[in-house]
Amino acid sequence: MVSSFLRFAVLLAAFFGVLTVTVADDSAKDLGPVIGIDLGTTYSCVGVVENGNVEIIPNDQGNRITPSYVAFADQTSERLVGDAAKNQAASNPLNTVFDVKRLIGRRYTEPTVQRDKKLLPFRIISKDGKPHVEVTLNGDSKAFSPEEISAMVLAKLKKTAEDYLGRKVTRAVVTVPAYFNDAQRSATRDAGVIAGLDVLRIINEPTAAALAYGLDKTKDDEEKNILVFDLGGGTFDVTLLTMDKGVFEVLATNGDTHLGGEDFDQRLMEYFVNLWKRKNGDDMSKDKRALGKLRREVEKAKRELSSKTQVRVEIEALFDGKDLSETLSRARFEQLNEDLFKKTLKPVAKVLKDSGLKKNEINEIVLVGGSTRIPKIKELVRGFFDDKDPHTDINPDEAIAYGAAIQAGILSGDSDIMKKNLVLLDVTPLSLGIETLGGVMSKIIKRNTVVPTKKSESFTTTVDNQQTIAVHVYEGERAMTKDCHLLGQFDLTGIPPAPKGQPQIIVTFDIDENGIVKVTAEDRGSKNKKEITIEDRNSGRLSAEEIERMVREAEEYADEDAAVSAKIESKQELEAYITSLRKRIESMGAQIASDDKSDLESSITDAEQFLRDIDFSSTEVDAIDERRKALEEQALPLLGSDAGYREKDEL
Ligand code: AMP
Repeated sequence: MVSSFLRFAVLLAAFFGVLTVTVADDSAKDLGPVIGIDLGTTYSCVGVVENGNVEIIPNDQGNRITPSYVAFADQTSERLVGDAAKNQAASNPLNTVFDVKRLIGRRYTEPTVQRDKKLLPFRIISKDGKPHVEVTLNGDSKAFSPEEISAMVLAKLKKTAEDYLGRKVTRAVVTVPAYFNDAQRSATRDAGVIAGLDVLRIINEPTAAALAYGLDKTKDDEEKNILVFDLGGGTFDVTLLTMDKGVFEVLATNGDTHLGGEDFDQRLMEYFVNLWKRKNGDDMSKDKRALGKLRREVEKAKRELSSKTQVRVEIEALFDGKDLSETLSRARFEQLNEDLFKKTLKPVAKVLKDSGLKKNEINEIVLVGGSTRIPKIKELVRGFFDDKDPHTDINPDEAIAYGAAIQAGILSGDSDIMKKNLVLLDVTPLSLGIETLGGVMSKIIKRNTVVPTKKSESFTTTVDNQQTIAVHVYEGERAMTKDCHLLGQFDLTGIPPAPKGQPQIIVTFDIDENGIVKVTAEDRGSKNKKEITIEDRNSGRLSAEEIERMVREAEEYADEDAAVSAKIESKQELEAYITSLRKRIESMGAQIASDDKSDLESSITDAEQFLRDIDFSSTEVDAIDERRKALEEQALPLLGSDAGYREKDEL
C-alpha cells in the first residue's frame, strides 16, 4: 500500500531484488495471472501481460474501456455494469451510479462531496459519516458504499479478464490518482477485496503511464527528462521524471483532483440549459432525466469536436416534449472552457519549479487520458513548451492500464517483463524529521526523496544525566514543528547518566517500498533502542489538499523560516561554544584563577538561561550572536582560542 504521504516514482532499474523474492514465492503457489486495472472516474480499463506483451482486454461489448457505471432496475434485482449501465443512464438517472471515485474514502461532510452531491443525478446520503449512494432496488431503497459500487466495476473487469484468459483471476494491481490519501487508497483496496481481488499494489496513475511509456523506450541510452500530462475524465496529474539508460526516476508530481473531461461536459451542460431557457423560457435544470440525456449528448459532441470543427447536437423530446437541435462549434467549446484548459498549465509549472528544471530541459512530453485528445489542450501544452510536440504514441485511454499491467506482470513473475528490469519506487512529498530543542524541525528525509530509503542522524541530550528523550516525528517543510504535522511520538528511556551533549542517540528513518515509515532511536552507548512504525492506514496522515497547503505555506513563509533558521544556527553556535568552554575550563583545572573561573562560570550559567529563554518569534539573531561574542571576549584572555564545536543537535 502506498501511503498518502508518498507520491509515486518509477525506477526502471537493474536491482529488483525485493520483487524477485516475492515473485519466486508467488509463482511457486501458481496463484494465476495478475491483472492491471485502471479504475477511472469515468472509464476503467484492464490489461494483462502475456508472453512479455501487454494486452488490453476488450469487454463483452468489444470495447477496450468500460464505463465506471453501475445501474439498478428499480422493480427487480437486476444490476447492470459498464456499457449497459451507461447506455440506459439517461432514462434511469436516479438509479444509475457513476463517478463514485469522487466519493470513495471521503467523509460525507467534505466540501467536495457536498459539491458533487449537487451535481450528480443520483441520491447521496450519509451513513456513519461516509457518503453512500441510495438507489431503489426491488421496490425498496438501498444504500451502497462507494467501495461496493467500485467493487461492482472491478468485478466486471475481473470477469472480462477471466473470460479472455480462460482462467480464474484473483490478484490485481490497481491505479489511483497521485493525490489520493490513505483513506482513499485503503477504500480502493477494500473495493478490490469485495470484488474477490487481492490488490497486490496500489500505484499512482501517472506512474503507470510513465511505465507504459518507458517499456517502449528502455533501449534509448540518452538521459531524458519526461513530463507526463494526464488529463482524464475526473482527475488531472502531472509527473516529471528522468530516464537514464533505462532507469526512470520521478522528480516531482502535481495535479488537481477535480479537473477533467467531466468539467468540460458540465460547462457544455450549463451552456445548453441557459440557451434552452433563453429560447424556450423554461428551466430544465431540475429535471434529472433531461439532464442525464443532455450529459450523454454533450459528451458525445465534445468527443466529435476533437476531430471536427463543428457538430450538431440533436436530442428528441429533451424537455417538456420539445427537441433540442443546435450547432456547437469547436471555437464555442474552447471559449466555454478556456479558464479550465489554462488551469492545466499551473501544475505543469509547479512540477518544473519543484524539480528545478527549466522548460527547455524537458526532452519528452507524454499525453495521457482521454481529454488530451482535445486539440486545444495539445496546443496549450505544446505552446507552454515553446512549440515542442507532445508524444501521442501511447493510446491515451489505455496507457494507465497498460502500465498497471506491466507492474502486474512483474509481480506475477512474467519472465519476459522481468528481463526488462522494472521496479517501482515512491518519493516523499513532504520532508520527514524530528523535533529538536526549541521546537525546531530537524529534517532527516528531504521532500521528494525516492523510497525505499534509510537515513540516520546523531542527536544528543539537553541536560546533564538526562535519561529519557522524547522523539516526536513530523512531516512538513517549515522550520518549526508547530507549523508541521505530527505523525507519532515515543520516549527512549534508560539512557545511562552522562553529562549533556555526551550520549549519542542515533535516530534512523527507514521507509519501505510500501511507504511504511519506521523510526528508530538508539543510544549508542547502552544499545538501548526504541522504535515506532507509522502505518499507512490508521495514522493521521495528511490528505492531498493538506500536503499541497503545507508545501504552499512553506513557500509563502520562506523568508520567515529563513530568519528562524538563522536564529537556530546562532543558537546552536552558542550552545556548541558553551559546551567547548566547559570542557576547556575542566581541562585547565588550576591553571585559571578561581575568581576568573567563577566569573566565567556564572556568565556561562547566565548564557544557558538565555538559551532556554529564547523565543524564536521574538528573540533577534543579533542578540544571540552578541551573547556568544561577549562570552568569547571574557573567555579568550583566560583560556586561549580553543573553541571546539559540537556536531549533534539536542533533543
Ligand atoms: P479517461 O478517464 O482517461 O478514460 O478519460 C475520459 C475522459 O476523456 C472523458 O471525460 C471523455 O469524455 C474524454 N474523452 C475521451 N475521448 C475524447 C475525445 N476524443 N475528445 C475529447 N475528450 C475525450
